[in-house]
Amino acid sequence: MLGAGDRRAQWLVVGEAPGAEEDRQGEPFVGRAGQLLDAMLRAIGLGRGQNVYIANILKSRPPGNRDPAPDEVAACLPYLERQIELIRPRLILAGGRIAMQNLLQTQGSLGGMRGQVHEFGRLKTPVIVTYHPAYLLRKPLDKRKAWEDLKLARTVFARLA
Ligand code: URA
Repeated sequence: MLGAGDRRAQWLVVGEAPGAEEDRQGEPFVGRAGQLLDAMLRAIGLGRGQNVYIANILKSRPPGNRDPAPDEVAACLPYLERQIELIRPRLILAGGRIAMQNLLQTQGSLGGMRGQVHEFGRLKTPVIVTYHPAYLLRKPLDKRKAWEDLKLARTVFARLA
């Protein structure tokens, strides 16, 4: 599954990999984490399919919900890079460590990369890092920090306009 949403979106959300529910429905972020993602997007005035495209690092589901293996990431990354070239989002929101590490080519921790504006690729597209919604379902106290990240993303986006 490549992704879903508005192909001329100015916002691109990148997650990790489809889960079981996403596999069934053929659309990213449709399970519980997806519902939280929708709420997070709504909080900054965005709706699924309205100026947002949602994609994942991995295009298919790793068995047993394990972390993506390096060869799996290597096989899928060119698709994401092409998606970014075609969509040309103004801002990329990286959800979770796997998205952050692979988009930014770093081994850094998510906590250490939050709160700053990073860049992706030739076009130096700004990247804001936040927690993965599935993590936030397990650690709801960190939603406050995710809200800070979303506000940063909204401010950076507004400055681009
Ligand atoms: N988690 C992800 O990272 N991506 C999805 O598409 C669904 C859940």
